[in-house]
Amino acid sequence: MVHEVERPTYEVVGDLQRFDERDTVFAREAYLPGTPEEEEYHTRHPELVDIDRRLARFIQEKIDNPPEVPEDPLNEAFYEATFGSVAALAQPDSVDGPVNSYQVRADPAEMSGRIKAIARRLGAYLVRIGPLHPAWVYTHRGVRPFFEDYRANPPLFTGVPEDYQGLSYSDPIEIKHQYAISMAFPQDHHLISTSPSLLSHFELGRAYAESALASVELGKYIRSLGWPARAHHLRNYGVLLVPVAVDAGMGELARSGHLLTKELGLNFRLSCVTTDLPLAEDKPVDLGVQDFCDKCLKCAETCPAGAIPRGEKLEVRGVKKWQIEPEKCLLYWGSQGSACAICQVSCPWSKPRTLFHRLVAEIATRVPQARRFLVKADDLIYGAEYKPVPWPDWAR
Ligand code: SF4
Ligand code: SF4
Repeated sequence: MVHEVERPTYEVVGDLQRFDERDTVFAREAYLPGTPEEEEYHTRHPELVDIDRRLARFIQEKIDNPPEVPEDPLNEAFYEATFGSVAALAQPDSVDGPVNSYQVRADPAEMSGRIKAIARRLGAYLVRIGPLHPAWVYTHRGVRPFFEDYRANPPLFTGVPEDYQGLSYSDPIEIKHQYAISMAFPQDHHLISTSPSLLSHFELGRAYAESALASVELGKYIRSLGWPARAHHLRNYGVLLVPVAVDAGMGELARSGHLLTKELGLNFRLSCVTTDLPLAEDKPVDLGVQDFCDKCLKCAETCPAGAIPRGEKLEVRGVKKWQIEPEKCLLYWGSQGSACAICQVSCPWSKPRTLFHRLVAEIATRVPQARRFLVKADDLIYGAEYKPVPWPDWAR
C-alpha cells in the first residue's frame, strides 16, 4: 500500500524503556498532599513535589469547596454525560474477562478484514492492526480510579462505580498479547474549534466514550471467539496508544506528541484492543510527517501554555522525539476549567475531510518540496493565530 514502509519513522537511539503510568501528569495531578500514593511517589521523586502540588491544586480545591450550584449547569453536565459514563466501562470485567472455551480458527488475513469491518461498524473511522511491542506496555497502574481511597472530584469523574474492584494503584502491568488493533474516532471540527471550552470538552469526551465502548465491544467479541483480548481506553489503559498506533501504520508521531494521520490530522481519539487472535499485521507508514513538522511550528506557536517544543527532538526512553511539557499543558487546562485541544485543531492536517483538503493531504505526503509552501498557505488562508469559533446555536 502507498506510504507503507518496513520500519516506523521514529528513531530508536537506545534501549527502549517502558513507561510507568504513575509518572503521567494525570496520575500526578491526583497526588493530594498526605495521601499514601503522594507520599510513596514523592519519596521516589522529591524533585517533583513543587510542580505536583501545583497540578493537584485544582482537584484539591474542588474537593475542599465543591460548588453547591454549578456556574454553568447546562454545559457542566457534559462532563458527567461523557467522562462519567466511560468510568463504568473501566471495570476489569469490562476491559477483560473470560475467554470462550471453543476457539474459532480462520485465515489471519480474512480475520483481519472481519475485525476491521466490525471495528468500523462500532464507529471507528480508522482501524489498523500491528504488533504489540513490549516496550509500549505500562510498567505500573497509575491513574484514577485505581487509588485505594479514591474520592470523587466534583463535578468531574463522579461516575466511578462503588463496587469498583480488582485493580489497584501500583499494580504491575503485564500484557503479553501479540497484536494490537488500533482504532481512531473523529472529533467534530467545529465543536473542537471552540476550545478551550466546556463544549469542546464535551466533544472530546464524546469521542472518548465512543472509542471506549467500541474497544470493550471488540474485546468481548474476540474473547467470544475463544481468544484472549483486552480493551484499552481512556479510563483503563495498559498500553501507550500512540506508539502502538504508529507501529500499526495509522500515522506518525508528530511534534505535538500526538499521532498524526493523513485522514484526520490530530483531530480524533484513540482506543485499542490487544489480543492473541491470529491476525495479519499492517505495516507502518511514512507520510512525511517528520519533515513536515520540521518545517511547521503551528502547534507550538498556537499553544497558549508554551508546552510544545519549537526546537529539536530529544532522546526519551530510547526514542528520539519532540518532547512536550505535559505539566504546562495540564496547568493551562486547570486555569481554563476545561481541557484544551487548540493544538489538535490548529494543525494544518486537522481540516474537515473535504475534497480540497484530501487533495492537500495527498500533496503533503507525496511532494516534499511543497511542504514549506503548504505551511505558509495554511497561515494565509486560516490565519497564523488561533481564534476560537462561536458556539453553535443549540449549545448556547
Ligand atoms: S492541549 Fe492546549 S495547552 Fe496542551 S499542548 Fe495542546 S495547545 Fe498546548
Ligand atoms: S501543527 Fe505542524 S508541527 Fe504541529 S503536529 Fe501539526 S504539522 Fe506537526
